[in-house]
Amino acid sequence: MKFADLHLHTQFSDGTFTPEELVLHAQKNGLACLALTDHDTVEGCARAAAAATAVRMEFIAGTELTAEHADTEVHILGYFLDTQNQLLLDTLAKFQAVRQNRIHEMVAALNRQGVPLQAEAVFALANCKSPGRPHVARALVKEKLIGSLDEAFERFLKKGRPAWVPKTKMSALESVELIHQAGGLAVIAHPGLNRSDNIIPALVAAGMDGIECFHTKHSTVMAERYLELAEQHHLLVTGGSDCHGYSKARPLIGTVRLPYSHVEKLHAARDLRNAARGKQK
Ligand code: AMP
Ligand code: FE
Ligand code: FE
Ligand code: ZN
Repeated sequence: MKFADLHLHTQFSDGTFTPEELVLHAQKNGLACLALTDHDTVEGCARAAAAATAVRMEFIAGTELTAEHADTEVHILGYFLDTQNQLLLDTLAKFQAVRQNRIHEMVAALNRQGVPLQAEAVFALANCKSPGRPHVARALVKEKLIGSLDEAFERFLKKGRPAWVPKTKMSALESVELIHQAGGLAVIAHPGLNRSDNIIPALVAAGMDGIECFHTKHSTVMAERYLELAEQHHLLVTGGSDCHGYSKARPLIGTVRLPYSHVEKLHAARDLRNAARGKQK
């Protein structure tokens, strides 16, 4: 049987693997297909695609958009994206700027707490367009200003803590359209983790294509519940490990294995959607 992992991060957001290392780990774990879904960026996709081609593995260009609807944070996965699509790139650039400004705000808040971290230390460590809280946490540990990543989140970075800064997010309904116009399919990420079940009907009405049923932080009961929801709403089923490399304990790649038959259904849905778009033009 063939398997896929459709939720993976690299150094281009808050993972620790390079795209080449990620493909190598996918290969070692016997996966036939992987999708790169870095937060609010497609920067790593070209390198991952080249590395996957070299080992004859299927690669799906993706992203994980930080979005919101009705005051609920929701992550929307985009798959089969045209990574040269101008509106996609322009929109991502806007939210990457938000992320970069937020680093400055978090550092200023830490400084007010008497923690002498410099924004430059965070940017040097992140070295990507889409930095986030994990980079601040890692910089705090690297500069020996705190003992561990967990401590950084617990004391400063978690929601409600002194250096937590809210992030301007994309509208979830608009993010679905953004993905579609870039040739992709839109899938709600780990609804069990975000407690975003109540907004699924609105996303379905906006044309969302699928639900991430299988995820490291979904219990078997949750996965079954989302499989049922997917069937009810005639949605595609996806799954992935949400591996961030070594940034959170051990690499998770290989722990969630999506049967390849789901990827075949994704292909068919993508072709159908793009044929319909072609006719509209
Ligand atoms: P951001 O997008 O900058 O708000 O950061 C969110 C990312 O931080 C998530 O994707 C996780 O990778 C990570 N994260 C969130 N909460 C924690 C936590 N309590 N401990 C460790 N990592 C976390
Ligand atoms: Fe992350
Ligand atoms: Fe997520
Ligand atoms: Zn993720």
